Amino acid sequence: MKDYRLSAMGKAWYKGNLHCHTTDSDGAEPPQAMIQHYQTAGWDFLVVTDHEVFSDYSSRGSREFLVLPGIEVGRDVAVGCHHVVGVAPPAAAQSHGSVFEPPHQKTPDPGQGLVDSMAERGYLPMYCHPVWSRREFPDLETMQAFRLLEIYNHGCHWENATGMGLHIWDNYLRRGRRIWGTAVDDCHSSGGDSLGGWVVVRSSALSPEAILASLEAGHFYASSGPAIYEWAAEEGEIVVRCSPVRSVEFIAYEQRGLCVHADHPGGLTEARFRPQGREIFVRAQCVDYRGLTAWTNPIFLNDCKHA
Ligand SMILES: [Zn+2]
Ligand SMILES: [Zn+2]
Repeated sequence: MKDYRLSAMGKAWYKGNLHCHTTDSDGAEPPQAMIQHYQTAGWDFLVVTDHEVFSDYSSRGSREFLVLPGIEVGRDVAVGCHHVVGVAPPAAAQSHGSVFEPPHQKTPDPGQGLVDSMAERGYLPMYCHPVWSRREFPDLETMQAFRLLEIYNHGCHWENATGMGLHIWDNYLRRGRRIWGTAVDDCHSSGGDSLGGWVVVRSSALSPEAILASLEAGHFYASSGPAIYEWAAEEGEIVVRCSPVRSVEFIAYEQRGLCVHADHPGGLTEARFRPQGREIFVRAQCVDYRGLTAWTNPIFLNDCKHA
C-alpha cells in the first residue's frame, strides 16, 4: 500500500456546489441570486447547471468566488432517465445560452451518449442522482469515460429521499473502477433544497483549471455536514481526521471494513483502520450526531486487474 495524504494534494480546501438550477431552466431564482446565495453562505465556487442549456457566468465570479460554466443534460428511457452534468473551465466553455444538441436517438446506450457528448466538448462529466433516475447498477456497469458520480444529491433527498447512490458507487469500486463520489445540492431555489450537499476540494489554487484537475483526480471529499481534515494511508494504516462525529465507518471489499464509535460525548476526531492486505479499496464515512455524513474517496490498496 502506497502512502497517501489528501492534505498533500494541494495548498488549501475549497468548498463548492457542482449542481444547481436557475430561471434559465426550471429553477425559481435568477442566476445572480443563486451566485449571491452561495457566496454569502461561504462557498468558494459554484457551477450553474441548467437543463439542456450551456451557461457561462464566470464573469460574475471573482478571485474569491468562482462561477464555473456548466450544464445538465438528460435522456428519458423506458423506465426513468439518465442525467449527466458537465463542468468546464471558461476557456473551453460552449457559448453562453447555446442549446445542447442531444445524441442521435438510436445511440445504443443513452447514458453513455450523454457522457461522451460532455467529454467531446471538453466538459468534465458527472453522472447524476442514479436512484432518482430509477437506474440499477446493471444499467450503468459498462458506462465509461466519467469519473464523478453523485453519491448524495441533496435536492433529490429533500424532495423524495432518492438522493443516496452509495450502493451504485460501491458496485463500481468493488470492480476496481476509479469513480469519485460527489455530494451536490441540485437545488432549484435558495430554500431547503440548497446548502445541504457539497464537495471540499484540495487544490493548489482557486482557479477553474486547478479545481477541475483536483476533481478529476479525486482530491476532494463530499459532505452533508462534517468536515474532514485528513485522509491518509501511512505505515500500513488508513487514517481519517475530522470534525467531532458519532462514528467513523471504514467501507472495504472483499474483506469487511470496520466501524469505530465514539465512547464519549465529545465525539471522535480521528479513527484508524489497518487493512489485511486483500482489500481492493477502503473508503470512510464520518457520521455526526445529527446523522449528517462526510464521505472520503476510496484509496485503492493495489493496482486492481479489473480497473
Ligand atoms: Zn437531474
Ligand atoms: Zn439538476
